Amino acid sequence: MISRYEVQTSEKLGRHLVAAKDLKSGETILSDEPFVLGPNSDTSLVCFNCYLPLMSKFVVCKNCGVAPICPGDGCPDHLAHKKWHTSTECDFFRTLKLTNGLHPMTMVQNVGSLLALRAFMKRNVDVKAWDEFMKLESHLEKRKNTSAWEYSDNTVKFIQSLHVAGVVPDENLIQKICAAIDVNSFEVRGPAIPAIGCAEVLRGVYLKAALLAHDCVGNTHMSINDNNVLVCHASTNIKKGDIIYYNYTDPLKGTAIRQQHLMIGKYFKCTCNRCADNTEMDTFMSSSKCTECKTGLVSQTTPEQWTCHNCKNTFADGKISYQVQCCAEKFGVINKKDEKELEEFIRNVSLVLGPNHYLLLEAKQRLAGVLRDTINREPRPTKKLMKRKMELCEEILTVLNKLCPGISRTKAITLYELHSAIVRLAKKLFDGREITGSAYLDELITAEKHLKQALEMLFIEPGNSPEGELCAKALEEYRALKGTMNAVLDGIHAEGKSYQFTEETNAMADQSSVLALMILAVGVTVHFSLHKVEEGHVGVYYRGGALLPVTSQPGFHMMIPLLTSYKAIQTTLQTDEVKNVPCGTSGGVMIYFERIEVVNKLEPVSVLDMVRNFTADYDKTLIFNKVHHELNQFCSAHTLHEVYIDLFDQIDENLRTALQQDLNEMAPGLRVQAVRVTKPKIPEMIRKNYELMEAEKSKLLIAAQHQKVVEKEAETARRKAVIEAEKEAQVAKIQYEQKIMEKESLQKIELIEDSIHKAKQQTKAEADYYHLKKQAEANKLLLTREYLELKKYEALALNNKIYFGNDIPKMFMQANVGDSVPPIAKSVQVE
Ligand SMILES: [Zn+2]
Ligand SMILES: [Zn+2]
Ligand SMILES: [Zn+2]
Ligand SMILES: [Zn+2]
Repeated sequence: MISRYEVQTSEKLGRHLVAAKDLKSGETILSDEPFVLGPNSDTSLVCFNCYLPLMSKFVVCKNCGVAPICPGDGCPDHLAHKKWHTSTECDFFRTLKLTNGLHPMTMVQNVGSLLALRAFMKRNVDVKAWDEFMKLESHLEKRKNTSAWEYSDNTVKFIQSLHVAGVVPDENLIQKICAAIDVNSFEVRGPAIPAIGCAEVLRGVYLKAALLAHDCVGNTHMSINDNNVLVCHASTNIKKGDIIYYNYTDPLKGTAIRQQHLMIGKYFKCTCNRCADNTEMDTFMSSSKCTECKTGLVSQTTPEQWTCHNCKNTFADGKISYQVQCCAEKFGVINKKDEKELEEFIRNVSLVLGPNHYLLLEAKQRLAGVLRDTINREPRPTKKLMKRKMELCEEILTVLNKLCPGISRTKAITLYELHSAIVRLAKKLFDGREITGSAYLDELITAEKHLKQALEMLFIEPGNSPEGELCAKALEEYRALKGTMNAVLDGIHAEGKSYQFTEETNAMADQSSVLALMILAVGVTVHFSLHKVEEGHVGVYYRGGALLPVTSQPGFHMMIPLLTSYKAIQTTLQTDEVKNVPCGTSGGVMIYFERIEVVNKLEPVSVLDMVRNFTADYDKTLIFNKVHHELNQFCSAHTLHEVYIDLFDQIDENLRTALQQDLNEMAPGLRVQAVRVTKPKIPEMIRKNYELMEAEKSKLLIAAQHQKVVEKEAETARRKAVIEAEKEAQVAKIQYEQKIMEKESLQKIELIEDSIHKAKQQTKAEADYYHLKKQAEANKLLLTREYLELKKYEALALNNKIYFGNDIPKMFMQANVGDSVPPIAKSVQVE
């Protein structure tokens, strides 16, 4: 497989990665095992083997007698294979214990330096990786004389005190390790304690991923799975040769804050497109409202000055910064779990800051979270709550779409939340009959679109991460949503059918009245000169076979008997029935349309033209023959299945259109109102197959319903289990707290014991001192002052070897001049 990236070097970025081929959004760029992984410098104690927090008790590794590890049955099964406490390390600790008396408590106290120690030990174990690690950017020179340097001093002292292989390693080397870890490590979620769920935050150094250059609008998405493997995906399409960027900062923070973060943590000033653009990609994320024109937004144009985009007025940096500072302070003190306080903050701060200001965005994110919890908790959440949540999600998404193009974790979660708000609100409205079925369906379709988009992003998250769990949940909801949509669609169809049904009965009533009229008309057509033209008819006259150019309106009329004959032509709505039309489908099956009804109406003014051109039986030519022709054309172009099932509902309309089109040309006065085609008769064998198919379908439906019931039951059982588990977790938590208290009191006891021990030692020392003093006083008479001095320095030289002990220096101090205290506080105390 060809690599998707290659390492390049430039003056500005140092070593960095570029795409070695065109990469598609979502494509894996690299996956990386950690070079080292370990607890943070401020982490509490974790198992050296599996990084599980060690809360109440621990045991030391049986082999080395130094490393603290999980008590009881050891590390949990699912973590046991990790073995971060390698056999190399174990042997190393064992040697240290035997040669230097390394004490387990020393390791416990210095758990924060474990990561650096493990990196340090790699230098002989994995030389190639170590070389790579040493090549990473560390900004060592910039760290000198900073608090970071001072902070790492503990680690330096600790590693030096171990006397690895009998030498004291160089301070700069250990500082460099600490620096490289600080600059290049990624945060990793440590394993969680079962039932309680608490975990420590770890840090990991990934040698390949560490080479990713920074940009405040990255083009990658990073995830670290349960096995601590880092996987980097392309978040947008990346062209071959493009630099692969990762955003090391929070994209929803303003430029000043991001730059500060990068300066402190990574020692560089970002000059990316977003940082260079004072509108921050048109989001105006750091902008305040203009106090002059009241409508424009002001952005920082120089370090000292801000300018309004609208009225071009300028403002001093101090003024705007103070404003933002005040808002930030206000945000710091409000209760971020309180809907009212958040709303009030948003309302007030919106008067001062731009609508997308990062402080407002954070408040909006928090508020959306609070609303989500309320909506989920309350049995009947209000429409207002749901609408507000939708509004917030949409506002956040607009910004995210500009700042995080392509795949983004925050975007996925926001899209999911937006979908869930839409679904809930639409359901409420539909249940309350406030919207129609089709409006409901429209809303569901919108929600589905958002959910699908969220799913596409969540699919790349590792399975057992919180995002992976959200993905599973979203997938379940996607299925449910599809089900709801189908049900609504069926509902709409059923409604449509009942509508059609009423129309049909009306038409049938029409038809019977039309029939009655026809019978009447036939009844009165007698060979008498006095003749009657019924209402809804127009009379036409023939003499000697020739059509006379006159017509008569309804009523009594006279004509010359025997010479003249007349016909009444119906001009109201009439239904022509065409029966038994045989058709061959494209597959060659012969089918019969038993009855086709064509409802049509002839305009009274067109009667004469119609009779002249098409005789009084105009419908034979214009309708009957045409229906035959059109139907045959339709059938021969389609399969049996299409004619019988798929396209059957369209036949009526198609036929009507075809008929009318021809009539418009040939006989403009005749209008086809509607066409109804009955289900065609198909060969018995085939019909039986269709019936069977329908039966299978309904069986399937029943099975699906049954499955739903089963799922419901399973869901209830699952809920019960969850409640049970939560209960257990709470019990465990209480027990855990108790254990901590126990541990604390144990610690106190230890402290007391320690002080007793110290006091004893002191008393002993004082006694010795007193003894010596007395002896000296006794000897004073015997010895000269010079001799005494000599003896003192002799004793000092002898004691040098055990300078690192606990007691000797104190003795030395007290035996010497009592008032000047030597600085022994920083020497490592080995118990
Ligand atoms: Zn463990
Ligand atoms: Zn061990
Ligand atoms: Zn930037
Ligand atoms: Zn302005």
